[in-house]
Amino acid sequence: MEEEIYTSYEDYEKKMNDRTDEEWSEQIDYSVKKFDHAKFVCYIFKDTLQFDFSKEKMVVIKQTFNCSCFNNDNRPQNKYFVINNNNNLTLEEVIEELIKQGFEAGCDHYFLDDIEQETDVQYRAVFINMDEE
Ligand SMILES: [Zn+2]
Repeated sequence: MEEEIYTSYEDYEKKMNDRTDEEWSEQIDYSVKKFDHAKFVCYIFKDTLQFDFSKEKMVVIKQTFNCSCFNNDNRPQNKYFVINNNNNLTLEEVIEELIKQGFEAGCDHYFLDDIEQETDVQYRAVFINMDEE
């Protein structure tokens, strides 16, 4: 695939939405293979992985267990992963750092679908269960 330059996130989103099924598959295949050593499946587009993640020097990634796999008696506590971002990491590098810190899926929701921003420095890992899609 050719290198593409995006002028803004909106531009990027528009181009992503124009992709063919084949291009979508290529995007996902890259990510799945890139993190085949992880205890989850990375289901984030390649182009998204390669964006600089944040301008903040430190970011926190929160992992919650709010899904139907748990009830109030056995639901694990939220996990928080602190990432040093002095070198302006890409999302791909952030995920690699998370894996080093023991980041893994905690249940049947083992497809990592997004790292969603909640505040300037805090993000939430979004895991999905493909069987529920
Ligand atoms: Zn679950």
